[in-house]
Amino acid sequence: MVYNLFSIVRKNIPQYSGNCSLCGLSTEYSGFCEPCLSAVQRDGHYCQQCGNSLGKQPFGATCGQCLKKPPRYQTLVAATHYEFPVSHAISEMKFEKQLHHIRSFSNLLLEALLKHYQDTPLPQAIVPIPLHSNRLRERGFNQSQLIAKHLNRKLNIPLLDHALLRIKDTPHQIGLKAVERRKNLKRAFTVKQELPKHIALVDDVVTTGSTIQEASKQCLKHGVERIDVWCLAKT
Ligand SMILES: [Zn+2]
Ligand SMILES: [Zn+2]
Repeated sequence: MVYNLFSIVRKNIPQYSGNCSLCGLSTEYSGFCEPCLSAVQRDGHYCQQCGNSLGKQPFGATCGQCLKKPPRYQTLVAATHYEFPVSHAISEMKFEKQLHHIRSFSNLLLEALLKHYQDTPLPQAIVPIPLHSNRLRERGFNQSQLIAKHLNRKLNIPLLDHALLRIKDTPHQIGLKAVERRKNLKRAFTVKQELPKHIALVDDVVTTGSTIQEASKQCLKHGVERIDVWCLAKT
């Protein structure tokens, strides 16, 4: 049954002619040319829980860090590795409103999700990581919400985009150490509506995981039992 769902979804991934989100050459794949796609797609050699690189550990393993102190979420699915030119395209998306990248990367994430959930139940709802209202006003859109909307349409999983609220206007986290990020993010989120037991938290980029950890903490306090993290790129 799950397989059938995926074959339907797969057919719905648009094939279009346009420019590659990374090199700008024309492409027939949904948003990326073949060489760029094979350069940035993740090969699966990552910790199945936190998504960090496994180095020399066997395929499908859990990293030492997760074995010692597992994160609050069960698994992380990322479309790409966060490095150039992906990092450049994502900053164009956020800071120069190049919103066509959202469709390209979300389709890539969808491909990764199709592989990941072949034998695993899908979450019951998609919850984007919210921006604080000040940041939302400044930017004009929440990229995580747009990604979540795209996935909601493709996967037919309910979107709860007002369930989580960001109540603390945290400074930009770029360049901060993990411990400082954690401190800044303490009590940054609150849950505004009832959540199902199994949810997917959606963010554009996951770096240290501090944001996702803090959001997960609040969700787990409100009846959620399992959290899967979906993101466009993981460092
Ligand atoms: Zn390309
Ligand atoms: Zn791990």
